[in-house]
This record gives sequence, structure tokens and C-alpha cells, in this order.
Amino acid sequence: MPRTGRRLAALTLAAVALLAAACGKEGSPPVKGPRPESLPAYTVDTGFRLPDSPTWRAAKSRGHLTVGVKEDQPYLGEKDPATGVYSGFDIEIAKMMSASLGFAPGTLAYRTIASANRETALQNGQIDYYVGTYTINDLRKKQVGFAGPYYIAGQSLLVRKDEDDIHGPQDLAGKRVCSVAGSTPLRRLRKDYPKAVAVAYDTYSICVDNLLSYQVAAVTTDDTILMGFAAKAPDELKLAGRPFSEEPYGIGVPRGDTALRLALDDAIEAHERNGDWKKAYDATLGRSGVPAPKPPAVDRYGTGRSA
Ligand code: GLU
Repeated sequence: MPRTGRRLAALTLAAVALLAAACGKEGSPPVKGPRPESLPAYTVDTGFRLPDSPTWRAAKSRGHLTVGVKEDQPYLGEKDPATGVYSGFDIEIAKMMSASLGFAPGTLAYRTIASANRETALQNGQIDYYVGTYTINDLRKKQVGFAGPYYIAGQSLLVRKDEDDIHGPQDLAGKRVCSVAGSTPLRRLRKDYPKAVAVAYDTYSICVDNLLSYQVAAVTTDDTILMGFAAKAPDELKLAGRPFSEEPYGIGVPRGDTALRLALDDAIEAHERNGDWKKAYDATLGRSGVPAPKPPAVDRYGTGRSA
């Protein structure tokens, strides 16, 4: 993201937090990130080896993992502008995975990568894997691999609290609707709702900024992301209508590194079984108001042993 974009994104989050603090009535969600004490610590599998994975071998000899994430998605992938600390459900998934791959917490580095740059970042080795509301689909599978899914979201709409006309994507004709370049919701908006006026930015926080300042009538992306923004500014923002797609979240890995992909599939299942997944969800994404669902079955595509 360009510097001005990053500054704007930080400003938006700060503005949303301030708004929420100023307008927060009793019972409204807390504006802070997850409480560290409610987060599980993940057991590091110190004896873990994955010699068949070029990505794992390179990370091991380098001494740390670099994971691509988001930094402006409340309760999912959020960077505290003051401390630089990342938090959220996707960050917890990234930590669980690194522990299973044998990397201690101090050897995990995050790198913010926008939706449009995920495939390139994985292809050119900037990151070892990516955890950031990344929908698994066949088009992307031509460029990267996916472990998971570890959660299923759905495309939805975020509008201002004073909006009465938008109840679903059918009401978007002639309206300016913001989404993010390189995302599945932008693609679906353009393809299935061509009468809407699509506006694209690099990040959802810039879209929310545009919504709060009446530059656009709605923001569209996954309900998880939109609920986070709405939970932080409940007097300003609300979701409209029902989700209208399925967005299975995967962990992006370099294409062809099947050993890494399948090791992460095993790790996801292990952390779902031992309760880490639910604890992490409750401490993060669960705080935007939706109780933990049953996690979806992982899809070991191309191996003949899917779920
Ligand atoms: N899950 C959707 C996608 O992967 C939207 C969220 C995002 O842009 O990260 O494109």
C-alpha cells in the first residue's frame, strides 16, 4: 500500500475507534483488540521436520517464517498503530500454523499484503504463507495453493445507519459501492450487479472512510470484515441484508509446495480438535457478535483424500 494509503487506513481505524468510544452506549462492543490473557498459547512442535517442502526448508535455514496478513481488518488482521502489534483471528491462525511447523513465536514475522498483491507475494517468495480473509477458488488455484478452509464467510453489504434504501445487492443500481482491488467481492459486484457503480481501493478501511464521509453508499466484502467495522462503530454503521456468496478462507501457500499445503491441512485439523481454533475465534472474531460455528472440513484437493 502506498504511504498515504497506509496513513489513511490508520486514520480511519482511529476515527472509527474514536467514534465508537464517543458514541458507545452501554452494552456496545469493546473497542480494543483481543485481551492477550484470553488468547491460547500454542504448543510449538519442536521436533517437526518437513524436508519435502522447499518453503519450510528455506524458512528453517533463515531462522524465521514470514507470513502475509492484513493490518486494517478489525478482529481478523489488525495492526495497532501505536505498538505495531498484530492481532485478530487470522493472526491466531498464522500463529497456530507456525507452532505446528516448529517455529517459536519469536521467529514469526508479519508482512502486510493487500488483496491485489497476494498471489505475486507468494510467487516471488516475499512470504512463506498468507492468512488474511483469502477466499479459495479455482482461478486463484492456478497461481497459488490453499490449505483449508478454516472458516466460511459470505459476501455482504455495509451501509450507514441512516440508510433505508439498501436491503440487498438488488438495491445497488445507480449507487456507488466500494470494494477492494483483486478481491472476489469486487469481481462479483461487477459481474452480477453491473448497474451498481463499482469503486475500488486497496483496502477496506479506505472504503469505510468513504462510506462515513458519504462518498459511497455501501461497502461490499465478506460479512466477517464488515461486522468488525460495524462492531467498532455501532452507531454509525450496520450490515444490510443477508450474505450472498460463500467465501471459504484458505491459507495461501506457494503453488506446487504440496508438502507445506498438506502439513497445514493437518495442522488446521489438529488445532480444531484440541480446542485452539474455538478459543482463538471466541477471543477475536467472536467479539463482533457471531458465536463460533462448527469449522468446515479441510479440502486436500488433488490427493484423492479430500476431507
Ligand atoms: N475473501 C475475499 C477475497 O479473498 C474478500 C476479502 C479480501 O479481499 O481479503 O477476495
